[in-house]
Amino acid sequence: MRKVKQLIKYQCEICKELYEAPDKAIKCESQGKELPLVELGKVVLYRDDWNGGFGTCFDKLDVIEINDYGHYISYTLGDWETKHPREHISGNDNFKSFCTIVEDQSLLVNKGSLNGGWELINNI
Ligand SMILES: [Zn+2]
Repeated sequence: MRKVKQLIKYQCEICKELYEAPDKAIKCESQGKELPLVELGKVVLYRDDWNGGFGTCFDKLDVIEINDYGHYISYTLGDWETKHPREHISGNDNFKSFCTIVEDQSLLVNKGSLNGGWELINNI
């Protein structure tokens, strides 16, 4: 049998990326793995900043897609019925800073886009 060159690579077991050196793969793995913070189809209030933060409006959007990229989760928000995407969020830190999960939609009121959009009322 003809001799062929054997290559040794090291793989991050989380994102499957290949590296020449083992320490690079270990470093990649050390970033850790994210798990989804929300289920598909859930409703979230999405914080939409405009005019460089001059105004903020909260939109009511559905989680229509969740992708697991290993080290981070990507969320697509939009309309559940039409599957029309509107916003993409990469990583759980961004999800936490832009989204509030709505557990009970009866607590939502729409104040109109000029008044900040949707608001979650905590009438405990
Ligand atoms: Zn990795």
